[in-house]
Amino acid sequence: MIAPVRGLLESSLIEWEGRISAVFFLPTCNFRCPNCHAPHLLAPVAEDDHIPLEPVRKLLKSREGWIDGVVISGGEPTVHGEALIALCREIKGWGLEVRLSTNGSRPETLGRLLAEDLIASVAMDVKHRLRAYEYSLAAGVAADMEAVQSGIEMLKSSCIEVEFRTTVVPGLHDPEDIESIAKTLGPKADYVLQAFRPGNCLSAEMNKRAATLPETLQAMAERANAHVARCRVRGVAGCACREFK
Ligand code: SF4
Repeated sequence: MIAPVRGLLESSLIEWEGRISAVFFLPTCNFRCPNCHAPHLLAPVAEDDHIPLEPVRKLLKSREGWIDGVVISGGEPTVHGEALIALCREIKGWGLEVRLSTNGSRPETLGRLLAEDLIASVAMDVKHRLRAYEYSLAAGVAADMEAVQSGIEMLKSSCIEVEFRTTVVPGLHDPEDIESIAKTLGPKADYVLQAFRPGNCLSAEMNKRAATLPETLQAMAERANAHVARCRVRGVAGCACREFK
């Protein structure tokens, strides 16, 4: 069995920095982050709503030399377990590298993908500092903290490209939280702080909150930089990605 693809972005310049990638969106997720911008992807979908892979393969083949990778996003791809592994094998068979975008809460599947050399890059969302109460507020469920910690440690010790990222939500994260996350990620980490933007969030209450202020995000990034290799901000008006350090 192969993981279902619910949505397709034929090309993107921003999902995998430095590459032109296609993006596959997989359905369902084990989290319910109140600021989730993909609520339509959280529920399982009927089989006849899946995108068939063969036409996608042909489309990407026709763009050979231009599209140089596939980002598998969601939803949360790792909830598909073996079926995700099969999908990554399939894409690798097409001659394309894979970036996995994940919430890092299924380390068994992540470990299999790394061990089988099926992914070239991972972007992991670290929702909050690693304390159960705060994490549950950001994830919308009682997340398995041991699993999240294990996912982080696995990526810290892997040899592939890894980007950790946190969407900074006003009222949910303060500078101490971000500094705590940066300390957990450690001195080799590439860390991105993303601005929260209201609109189309899973929680109606989130849509009433203000967007993250650029100066707030920048001050947090400067503080985080004492603990990671580099920290950048994304989603600030006027810049796609600004680096500190
Ligand atoms: S991890 Fe959170 S933000 Fe990501 S798809 Fe799941 S609910 Fe949405």
